[in-house]
Parts: sequence; C-alpha cells; structure tokens
Amino acid sequence: MENCIFCKIIAGEIPSTKVYEDDDVLAFLDLTQTTKGHTLVVPKQHSRNLLAMAPDEAALLFSKIPQIANKIVKNMDAKGMNVLQNNEEIAGQSVFHTHVHLIPRYAENDGFVGKFTEHDYDLQAVADQINQK
Ligand code: 5GP
Ligand code: ZN
Repeated sequence: MENCIFCKIIAGEIPSTKVYEDDDVLAFLDLTQTTKGHTLVVPKQHSRNLLAMAPDEAALLFSKIPQIANKIVKNMDAKGMNVLQNNEEIAGQSVFHTHVHLIPRYAENDGFVGKFTEHDYDLQAVADQINQK
C-alpha cells in the first residue's frame, strides 16, 4: 500500500534488520529495541490491523509466531517473552500495517513495562454486553 512504511520495508525500499522471512510474513528488529531482540512480525499482505483482518489472514500470521518467538527466546538467552499487538491509536498503534511485537524478557527491569490494573466491574454484565447482538 502506498505510503505505508511497513509495505516499503517488505518491498525492500526501506532497509530493515531481518530475523525471519517467508512467502507470507517478514520479521525484523524494531528500531526502539525496548528489550534486546524486540522484533516485529508483519504479514506481507497489507491490512490496517487485527480488527480489519479476515480470519484466514490472521490465522496465517499467528501460525508463524511460535517458531519465530522460540528462535528469539532460545538464541537471545531470554527467560520469556511478551507478545503485544496494538490496534488503533488509543491502544498505542502508530504504524497502520498489522504487526505483532515480540519482546524477549530478561529481567523485571529490562526496559519493558506492562501493567494490568484492577476494576470491580460486574463481570456478568460485561460478558452480556460483549455478547449482545
Ligand atoms: P506500534 O506503536 O504501532 O504498535 O508499533 C510500531 C513500531 O514500529 C514501533 O515500536 C516503532 O519503533 C517501529 N518502527 C516504526 N518505524 C520503523 C522503521 O522504519 N523500522 C523499524 N525497524 N521499526 C519501525
Ligand atoms: Zn502496509
């Protein structure tokens, strides 16, 4: 897609540091390197984000994740990994071509901060809202 930075990376018009490539996906190092080895996995076919993907496109993308994730964890000597996928600006998406962040983890203070906060919503009411037509 025109003016999409990740499409340009896939086409080789913008350089990237590749860690995996096949016919369907490209994985390359994120410029920020939140932790060492922070990688983005992107489908070669452009889509805005997961919310806009057809189920088979999403299935193809996510089918590649375990192999790439394990390669990073093993060869970077990481102790674990956060897998993060941002959809729309409110959720932190800044590049509007679907991508999955693979963030290898080494220690609690290794650079990545992810935090869940608690709320006492009525869980059944929330589930009912989600399941309304
Ligand atoms: P988002 O915030 O959309 O979930 O993540 C976009 C990510 O793309 C950011 O972490 C940012 O560092 C990364 N990024 C943006 N432009 C480039 C680029 O040109 N090359 C690489 N390797 N990463 C990029
Ligand atoms: Zn694109």
